[in-house]
Amino acid sequence: MSALPGEVLKQSFYDLNYADLEAVIKQNDLNQSVAGILFNWHYKKKESMQCRDNISKSSLAFFEKHFDFSLPEIDTVQESSKDRTVKFLFKLKDQHKVETVLIPFNNKYSICLSSQVGCAMNCSFCFTGEQGLKRNLTTSEMVGQFLQAWRWLASNRPGEERILNIVFMGQGEPLHNFDAVKKACEIFLSQRGTSIGVQKITISTAGYIPGLKRWLQEVPGVNLALSLHSPFTEKRNELIPINKKYPLAEVLNYIDAIPLQKKQFITYEYILIKGLNDTADDAKKLGALLQGKRAYINLIPFNAFPGSRYESPDLIEVENFKAILDTFRIPTLIRGTKGDDVLAACGQLNSKN
Ligand code: SAH
Repeated sequence: MSALPGEVLKQSFYDLNYADLEAVIKQNDLNQSVAGILFNWHYKKKESMQCRDNISKSSLAFFEKHFDFSLPEIDTVQESSKDRTVKFLFKLKDQHKVETVLIPFNNKYSICLSSQVGCAMNCSFCFTGEQGLKRNLTTSEMVGQFLQAWRWLASNRPGEERILNIVFMGQGEPLHNFDAVKKACEIFLSQRGTSIGVQKITISTAGYIPGLKRWLQEVPGVNLALSLHSPFTEKRNELIPINKKYPLAEVLNYIDAIPLQKKQFITYEYILIKGLNDTADDAKKLGALLQGKRAYINLIPFNAFPGSRYESPDLIEVENFKAILDTFRIPTLIRGTKGDDVLAACGQLNSKN
């Protein structure tokens, strides 16, 4: 990002977790109470710097001088006419664009955040993968997607500004941008701010082992979802090319080592693609692989996108697949396709245009 002449590039306030903010305050001899006040404004009340009652003029001036409080700009908003799904296209400072989706459930929302511009994983069924990786998102750009979506709800659907779940299932591979995603989680979790419960955050991965190695120590308690898509090596290699470097068996070893809370599961996502991974054999092998694990399977019928090479199976095939998994006693949900009329369903996010 290049600064305009005369412009000093400031650090974004929304890149700071609570400990970072306290450190800034200490280094600059400001009043310690400022950290709590700022987190309360920005993350609990979600107001901007306009609200300046209980903070000294000098502290305020310091933050205004040294920090950037801008958020990613909303470029377009598409509201589904079938359900209440909302898809946002955000414009970032360097003109790159990313998408975010609000998914409704009983007047509350889950938010699906993007973690990268594009993605390096190159999965053969994914629209985002076609873009390649442009760059990682910063923590503030992820936190900013949340805050802007919240503010949009507050002004467009007043009373509905309740975003209770956060899923990193938008564009990008979150574990490939571990540091920034981790810090965004720390901000969401902070009791001084949005105070999202740890079990309300889910990070989805294609099986990126360098990130899984850090999971236990660095994001304890956060939910994990693995995009599994095939228990067979050759098919998984075709669908998720990083399987050649990070094979499923090894990925599962890391995942099995994660201690789970009561009622906590690992989610295994399985896209069903007609004629490719939707047969009885696939279901049996998948069932055998996950039997006995604290597993929850999300079956996602493939969502088509412009130019996609695969097809979605018929509903009866999806139901047959689930019936086989039921015999293994693995809880399985057939995921609906909320928001597909605005290309907001899984794998339909692509913001290159
Ligand atoms: N990189 C992460 C998160 C992004 S994808 C991951 O791979 O998990 C989020 C979910 O959408 C994944 O389960 C992914 O496999 C699924 N998905 C991607 N493209 C899809 C498509 N065309 N149809 C249905 N689901 C898709």
